[in-house]
Amino acid sequence: MFPALGVRFVALADGIDSDGDMDFLPFRSLLNDYYLKDLSKKIRSAVRTNAANGSYIGGQAPYGFIKNPDNPKYLAIDGYASVIVLKIFNLRLQNLSYCKIAAELNNNGILAPRDYYYQRTNKHSTLNEHNVWVAATIRAILHNEAYIGHSVRLKSGTISHKNHRKVIKPKDQWVRRENTHPAIISQELWDAVRSINSEKDHGVDKTKRKVVPFLGLLRCSDCGSKFVHATVNRRTKTGQDVSYRSYTCCLYVHTGRSKCSPHPISEMTLMKIIREDIRKHMPAGEDSLINGTLNKLHDEEEMNAKRKIDGIDARLAGLESSYFKLYDDKLNGVINNEEFQKNVAGIEKKREQKKEERDKLIKKIDGAKLRSAQRKNWHNEIKSFLMLEHPTNETLSALIDKIVIGAAERALGDKRKSVHIYYRFDGNVSD
Ligand SMILES: [Zn+2]
Repeated sequence: MFPALGVRFVALADGIDSDGDMDFLPFRSLLNDYYLKDLSKKIRSAVRTNAANGSYIGGQAPYGFIKNPDNPKYLAIDGYASVIVLKIFNLRLQNLSYCKIAAELNNNGILAPRDYYYQRTNKHSTLNEHNVWVAATIRAILHNEAYIGHSVRLKSGTISHKNHRKVIKPKDQWVRRENTHPAIISQELWDAVRSINSEKDHGVDKTKRKVVPFLGLLRCSDCGSKFVHATVNRRTKTGQDVSYRSYTCCLYVHTGRSKCSPHPISEMTLMKIIREDIRKHMPAGEDSLINGTLNKLHDEEEMNAKRKIDGIDARLAGLESSYFKLYDDKLNGVINNEEFQKNVAGIEKKREQKKEERDKLIKKIDGAKLRSAQRKNWHNEIKSFLMLEHPTNETLSALIDKIVIGAAERALGDKRKSVHIYYRFDGNVSD
């Protein structure tokens, strides 16, 4: 989609008369790399301009909207799907998890966005399988400001013209415009759901987190849902009663086998896999891994603050040189005293602002240093985990980003399932 748009935007943004441009062409093709860089810059700037105008530049309209038939650059409300969006927000208001909301929609036979798109446009899907509502889709909808009428564009982009990997951009580079199209959700409903999201994401489950070590860490390889846990009580072949905790795909639990399979895994098995994996990959001992993980978390925070301070210092230096320039202008009679005073006051105000920002960042770095005591605690805690003591959700979450559980497959009469562990340090370890 990007190159197709790009060609059109470049033509619009270029503004060079075509004759002159033609002469320039052979030269450009000689400097291919330069040209690509130039082109990519132009596409970026044109896309940015359009985003800033608030027109819709994505491929398909977000679920709940259609492209306005009178002006496809803007969004209009889709009567049917907007009701479903409203329902999703209201279910969230009743404190339902993303997965339970997905299940509710699946159970009521409501088409998931992609299938609905094909039905509405009478187009044929190139994919045979039907797609279903999954937690990730619900989450994306509940976080999309399009539903309150705002446009947020360019949340992701490519790294450069040479590297086309998509990355999520820093928030300050997003182009955000308010009231660019009709809203589906009221501001009040949006705010209420926002507070539920933040409550659910942090806190609330703290007591639960202590006793359920893998809570929030497991993902289904087929549908991407989180896992739910249950205690299984059963009798073994030898007549022993056993009770253990097992985790299962949330979509399967709430929607049934038609949407996903169980992917069950017991806590004992998981714990065993992780402990063995950690030991296997750490012949040199635990300390380097623990320090690596903790230092990385810490360094990132500190580096971010330092980078911002550098930016502020550059700005302060710039302000200082504007001051000297003003002073020169005044001495040379370019501006009068009144103008000088007015401009100086403006510069002084900006300088105060920047200095305040800078002080805050320095306090933040100092705070991070203070927390090294806390880091020592963590270190001990993680070490105790590695020493096979009592792993908590906190220690596991410090080490592991997520664990993706595959469905059981039969290979050579053996039942096997894949478990991919994504650690919070560089390089994924999997099996
Ligand atoms: Zn699943």
